[in-house]
Amino acid sequence: MEFPKLLAFCQRDLPNTIKLLREAVEIESPTYSKPDIDRMARFFAREFRRHRGKVSLLENSTTGAAVIAEFWGGPRTAGSRRHSGNRATPGAQKPILLIGHHDTVWAKGTLARMPFRIRGGRAYGPGILDMKAGIVQLITAIRALHALGVEPASSVRFFLNPEEETGSQAFRREIEHESKRSRAVLVLEPAAEGGALKTARKGVGEFRISVQGKSAHAGTDPAAGINAINELARQILRIEKLAQPRRGLTLNLGIVEGGTRPNVVPELARATVDVRIPRADDQARIEKAIFALKAVHPGARLKIEGGINRPPMERAMTKDLFRVARTLAAQLGFEVRGATTGGGSDGNLSAALGIPTLDGLGAVGDGAHALDEHVIIRELPRRAALLAALLATV
Ligand SMILES: [Zn+2]
Repeated sequence: MEFPKLLAFCQRDLPNTIKLLREAVEIESPTYSKPDIDRMARFFAREFRRHRGKVSLLENSTTGAAVIAEFWGGPRTAGSRRHSGNRATPGAQKPILLIGHHDTVWAKGTLARMPFRIRGGRAYGPGILDMKAGIVQLITAIRALHALGVEPASSVRFFLNPEEETGSQAFRREIEHESKRSRAVLVLEPAAEGGALKTARKGVGEFRISVQGKSAHAGTDPAAGINAINELARQILRIEKLAQPRRGLTLNLGIVEGGTRPNVVPELARATVDVRIPRADDQARIEKAIFALKAVHPGARLKIEGGINRPPMERAMTKDLFRVARTLAAQLGFEVRGATTGGGSDGNLSAALGIPTLDGLGAVGDGAHALDEHVIIRELPRRAALLAALLATV
């Protein structure tokens, strides 16, 4: 396969890519709005069908619908150029899984003050980088492969998650199930700074610590009370000591609440801790340490909930695919680096199951979750071509 042909196709096709991107951005899809997410799901489902995808919508009573699309799922076409499996991904008959999400962090109505617009080689809009452009690039890649008669070595499945931005709880089992039956997982989250692919992600967890003390009058009878805030403060100092920032294990006390009035010994106090872990074996250690916390005051009671909900995506699971992607990018005429990030994605789930995973294959830009969210337009065809080359090679 001559990869420059893929790139040339994607570059010629850029007006179509931008048109579809604009349509996708102009359908607002905040995670918590089921009708809007469903509308976005139907929009992409129609595009996948238009590109010869076999599509099913997975309805959910609380969140919006997820979409599964399968491409090249039928019998192999005679005469088309089929590509053999790569050594990095044994078991050539299993599908390649792509993962994306069609929800955004932006509330409905954001489009009015943050409309789709193109300025200075960049396209702006809510959710454009995270990750509508990633999905649109995949559609361009599929169109390119069809146009050039290139057939991937196995079927290509795409899982479109409706609630990634709130932690992928509703469809976690489906994502894990799809991952397990695949030989490689490619995640369409935005590229890291400078267009780097994401080759390691930290694991993410959240713990809630509640303290039950005893209220009393702070002036007349303070000794009768048990101060829940004092107790929580002591626990916070212990939690802080669990961090190992030099190797990337961090804990953030993000929310603290407690007390009612200055002259009342507070009965209740609560804290929420965000935890980031670099290695899978940190999970058991951190969970054990936090659940082992004991009240300092004999009369105070602690209640601890939560845990690590996304295990880390470790480099061991990404390095072979990254090597392939780097070689393909060089053949397409550009360089890609690998980067580590503290943020989690659905790639954490597949990598933790031992499935080779590569993330950051979506758009190149900046300002995800920020008012200047944008993608760099000249990167759209290059990334679409890289994705097409990966599907044709892996
Ligand atoms: Zn995202």
